[in-house]
Amino acid sequence: MNRLTIVKLGGSVITYKDSSPPKVNRENLLRIAKELKTSTEPLIVILGGGAHGHQAAHKHGFGNSSTPSEQLLKGIPSIRHNMSTLSLAVEEILNEAGLHGVVLPPFLVASLNNKEISNFQTSLFQKAIWSGFTVITHGDVCFDESLGASILSGDTIAVYLAKEMKATSLYIGTDVDGVLEEDPKTNPEAAHIEIIDTTNIDSVLGKAGPSSATDVTGGMEKKLVDIFTLSGLAMDIAIFNLGVPSRLSTLLSGKTPPCTRIRF
Ligand code: ADP
Repeated sequence: MNRLTIVKLGGSVITYKDSSPPKVNRENLLRIAKELKTSTEPLIVILGGGAHGHQAAHKHGFGNSSTPSEQLLKGIPSIRHNMSTLSLAVEEILNEAGLHGVVLPPFLVASLNNKEISNFQTSLFQKAIWSGFTVITHGDVCFDESLGASILSGDTIAVYLAKEMKATSLYIGTDVDGVLEEDPKTNPEAAHIEIIDTTNIDSVLGKAGPSSATDVTGGMEKKLVDIFTLSGLAMDIAIFNLGVPSRLSTLLSGKTPPCTRIRF
């Protein structure tokens, strides 16, 4: 069996999410690159939009269902430019760490219909993995057959590729310790949930909410709804705090740091 690990780097950790103009968090990325280098398996690394994606998307009316398609289409150049800038910065840092990264943007290979993926050519991703590269891809804006353009989130891509490419592991890095009984930003005392499985998924979903106001992709709730589509697959899945050093490398070594494991 070919092994493949997919790691999503949350935009809140790899960028300064509230910075305008958008700014890359180099310090975190240099550390994350070293942790990724400890992986013994091929990697697909998926970048969240953070400051680069969400501000431009919000400005052009993504996240508001009444925005006309002409206005959404006008947002494509600036969102694409920002996400390319972020992905090239990450590519440089990963390559300095010896990860042989290549950026493959979803805009070139994915089409959407009413915000859902209608086509995503994974053959290029497969070829790059087989060639020994680390594939870097990211949340992006894509053409949408019914809406003109839509945002394809890094979380949705991570889950889609995990399923299509039969990944062995999927690790979703964010700025909190996984899933909690309530949003820890509104209740810092909220209890941590170690495992989500079929016995508690419904109650957990009722408590997981969106992210900040400018985030157009849905926060923790959407992550869980997406991950739920992987039920029945033998895959090691965890949501963890990428902002804390060594949590990622612990997962990559097959151990369990503080995180939320998902077993369906
Ligand atoms: P990223 O940018 O890292 O992908 P998001 O901002 O999209 O992350 O989603 C993570 C955010 O979801 C957290 O920072 C938190 O504020 C929010 N959130 C809402 N409900 C919960 C919950 N029950 N448990 C954990 N986080 C939650």
